[in-house]
Parts: sequence; structure tokens; C-alpha cells
Amino acid sequence: MKFSDVIGHSEKKKAFIQSVSNGRVPHAQLFIGNSGWGTLPLALAYAQYVSCLDRGAEDSCGQCSSCRKYESLTHPDLHFTFPFPREKGEKCSELISNWRKALLEHPYMNLTDWMQLLDAEKKQANIPTAEIRDILKSLSLKPYESAFKVVVIWLPEFLGKEGNILLKAIEEPAHNTLFLLVTENTEKILGTIISRTQPVRIAPIDQDSMREYLNRAPEIEKERADRLAQVSQGDLRNAMQLLSDAESPYFEMFRYWMGVCVTRKMFSIVPWAEKVGAMSRENLKGFFQYGLELMRGILVSSYEESLNTWVGKEADFISKFQNLQIPTSQLEQIIAGMESAMMQIERNARAPLVLTDLSYVVARNLKKM
Ligand SMILES: [Zn+2]
Repeated sequence: MKFSDVIGHSEKKKAFIQSVSNGRVPHAQLFIGNSGWGTLPLALAYAQYVSCLDRGAEDSCGQCSSCRKYESLTHPDLHFTFPFPREKGEKCSELISNWRKALLEHPYMNLTDWMQLLDAEKKQANIPTAEIRDILKSLSLKPYESAFKVVVIWLPEFLGKEGNILLKAIEEPAHNTLFLLVTENTEKILGTIISRTQPVRIAPIDQDSMREYLNRAPEIEKERADRLAQVSQGDLRNAMQLLSDAESPYFEMFRYWMGVCVTRKMFSIVPWAEKVGAMSRENLKGFFQYGLELMRGILVSSYEESLNTWVGKEADFISKFQNLQIPTSQLEQIIAGMESAMMQIERNARAPLVLTDLSYVVARNLKKM
């Protein structure tokens, strides 16, 4: 991965390049930030740049034998350590082909995504002692091809006490060894490891870079790309999640429900509640999150039109809703009702009953006073 493949972070990239050209590469660095901000892609681009045989002033060449092996994550001097479920093996090398495929396709993945890709979302992940010993073993060998041996440890929060076996290697690494640790949560990392690494704080992706990136995706129309850049908080995973929600069937489901409540066709409520209530708890949560976001859109645009960031069919829905002239206090009642219903469902209440009760609250509050 080249620096140019990583979204945003232009200042950080410059700083990395500067440190390499000054010959000041700290041998153990801790990248800190959300997966969706691009911490792992940045660490990889940095490692590729350090190892590139024909470094440019702004990026690795992408062509040399080292870059080509880095691009396919197969460089013999690149070692990956990551958490995985116990039943999948003892060392990361046993899962390396899954890892390469996952990382090449989803470089902004987080642990949940990784566990899903392994078909192990309900399992416990960890970094076993055998893997830690394997890092030491690979460090005991000279670099095969590159000037640098690079060890990328993704989510070192999963190194238990056994992680202390690594301390000496991190503190006094063999010549030209580079440790790149990539974490989401420093509070969960062994203090002994934190104190031996140089922190590299990564910020969320800036809005302009995110907008530019999303606008390059042919399947996302411009208005939606702009809106996603605005609401995704610099996190590519968030943007992708919102994109799939916006294309989900929740809109029709929600629009139909509001129509029934506003026209008070209460005989339609029970069949609707049975149908929607039969969805999985995850989908119900998605439905409520979507509905709440839409209701909040209605509420803020009743104060100030320009605050509405929805586009397309949702924007039409909101503007039709505005014509009902529902007082804001009643909109707030509906939102509170939905929040409480979502909580009840999370606590395993019977969904069709909760949805039926909620519909009466909604219908009551969808009247002009
Ligand atoms: Zn190169």
C-alpha cells in the first residue's frame, strides 16, 4: 500500500517521509486511533516506504521488488501479528492467507469485521503465546531481502501478560528492526509496552479527503457522497455503514408505519408490528437507529431548514412531514418513545407488543394541536 492509497492524513504522511529521509525512524511506534480512520493502512504505507528500494520524495515507488511484495503483503521481512480465535490455530502464520485476503479487500476493517471474515464473530479473540514466540523467532533471523525487518502487531491490546516476553526485543531491537503496533485503545495495552514505544496519534480522516474519496466511488451519487462525508465523523467504516443503511428496506418500512399512524388506520398496526417484530434484534436496532436519525432530521429542520442534511427520498419524506406542522414538543415525544422502545427490545421485551404500544404513542403525537 502506497501513501497515496491511504485516504487523507497528508500532514502525517509528510512527517513520516521526513523522518525517513532524516534517517530518524523510531524502532518501535504505537499507532493510535480508530480502525476506520486508517491506522493500519498508514502503518503499512509507512513500512512499505521504509523498505522501498527506490523511494520518492512523496511516496514509495510501487514498482520495485520490495514494493511489489509489500503490495501483496507477502514480503518475507514483514511479519504480521493479530488476534484470532483459539480454535483457528496457534500462530498467525497459520491464518496468513485469510489475513492477506481480508486486509487487501478491507484495509479499514476493525476486529468485528475480521472475526466475521473468519466466521467466528461470537468467539473470543486473543494473541497466543506461541505467536509471541514466533515473532521472536522471526526476529532472530537476518532480513532476507530488505534493509528492514518489520513486525506489525495489530491490536496489541490482545497481548496478555505473555506480551512481556517481547519487552526486550522492543527495547533493544536487533539492527534495522521496526515494530509498528496499531491500537484502538491504549488503556487496554500493557503499560510496559506503552512505555517502550513512541506514540503516533492518528486523527479522523478530514472531511475534504473523505468527500473526495467517496465521490470517486462510481456507485455513490454525489449528493449522498457529500452527505456521508459530513456525517461519518472521519471514519470510513461509519460512512460505509451509513451507506448500506440508507439503501436498506428501513425507509419503506418507516414511511409505511408513519402513514398508518398519521391516518390512524390502527387496524393495520398489529399486522405491521408482527411483521417488523419478527426481524432479528440486530435488524430491529438498525430500524430504530434509522428511524431516530430521520425523526431527528425532521426535528432540526423544523428549527432551521439548512440543518437538514438528508437528500433524495428521505429529503422528500421530511419535507412532506413538515407540511403536517406537528409541534416540536410532540416530535420530541415520538423520539423519546422510540428510544425507550429500542431499549426495551434490547432487554428482550416482546418486539410486536413494544411496536404496537409505540405506534399508539406515535399516532397520539402526530396530531396537529
Ligand atoms: Zn519501491
